[in-house]
Amino acid sequence: MFFDNASTTKIDDEIINQLSQINNEYFYNPGGLYRSGRKSKDFLNKCREDIKGFLNGEDGSVVLCGSATECNNLAILGSVKKNTRKILVSAGEHPSVYNVALELKNRGYDVGFVPLSSKGVVDYDSFTKMMTEDVDLVSIMHVSNETGAINNIARLVEYAKSVNENVIFHCDGVQAFGKIDVNVDDLNVDMYTISAHKIHGCKGVGALYVAPNIKLKPIVFGGGQEGGLRSGTENILGVFTLAEACRLATQNLNKNYDHVASLKKCFLEGLNLSGLKFVLHSFGENSPYIVSISFMGCRAETLLNMLDDKGVMIGNGSACSSKNSGNRILENMGVSKQEIESNIRISFSKYNTIDEVKELLKILKNTVVEYLSKIT
Ligand code: PLP
Repeated sequence: MFFDNASTTKIDDEIINQLSQINNEYFYNPGGLYRSGRKSKDFLNKCREDIKGFLNGEDGSVVLCGSATECNNLAILGSVKKNTRKILVSAGEHPSVYNVALELKNRGYDVGFVPLSSKGVVDYDSFTKMMTEDVDLVSIMHVSNETGAINNIARLVEYAKSVNENVIFHCDGVQAFGKIDVNVDDLNVDMYTISAHKIHGCKGVGALYVAPNIKLKPIVFGGGQEGGLRSGTENILGVFTLAEACRLATQNLNKNYDHVASLKKCFLEGLNLSGLKFVLHSFGENSPYIVSISFMGCRAETLLNMLDDKGVMIGNGSACSSKNSGNRILENMGVSKQEIESNIRISFSKYNTIDEVKELLKILKNTVVEYLSKIT
């Protein structure tokens, strides 16, 4: 049973079934001057327009990249200039933003990390203090990949632009898009990142929405594809899976949300009845797709391996990736060291069922009891 859907998802069967035909029709290099090359380019651009439409970004453009990690790098490194005064990111960012911010700090830029509240969202008071007139670039994620906490991006953008109307606001929407309502025009963001493999498309495909007023510099150089912003022969098949994944996720947004919310409810109700000692780091107002939880006294990595042996795959929450600064997010929320050490992440998808959740509860209970009985 797979409960690590925040790390990746299975490609939708409806998409897989179309791939052979799409490959036959559009495998040609979109840079080819023959008719089939031009047709492939038209098809790629149609997918791009579809993706833009699903993001509701009427006037902007979409840059197709090799991952959301690359989109986040392009958004930040591509908009930083020599004379950029200050950059703000949240303390809760995914490494693909956080480590770029650290790199810019190393290069001498003035970079601020906005702390999180105990609920895992950007602390609004701190943000308003740090968001001064000389901040030229902000990057704050929409939904936390660790806890599912949802930042009020529209409110943060509104405040940032009221202080500096020229500030560039980028948002990493990888865990938001296709799961909760996203409208980049309503959010008023300048750039927004999405990833195909988090919404049942294939791995290695990301899209960066860019508002019309934003001028980016490339970070990958070569043949000049993607308007010079991301050289490399275009991944037509992968981009098709993103466009289709966007379509399916958008069309079924409410249905999938309600289904996943019912899985989370069943899981939490079961836990409350289980007699296990646990602490939740995901709250009622969070995305239901992600549950961050600590089973007190159980080291996360050991518990994860024991569950794996019983056929249950869950995410390595913060503790296991501490070397990769994974625990900085819960630490920033003020979570105790013991809770961080026993933190795991359970993340659902539309493919999980209530029966699976009931089975998960049974296995989890037995495994935690077995673990604790061994160490006491
Ligand atoms: N941003 C967030 C919030 C994520 O959860 C992830 C993936 O874990 C990424 C960015 C990176 O996505 P990709 O695997 O497409 O590079």
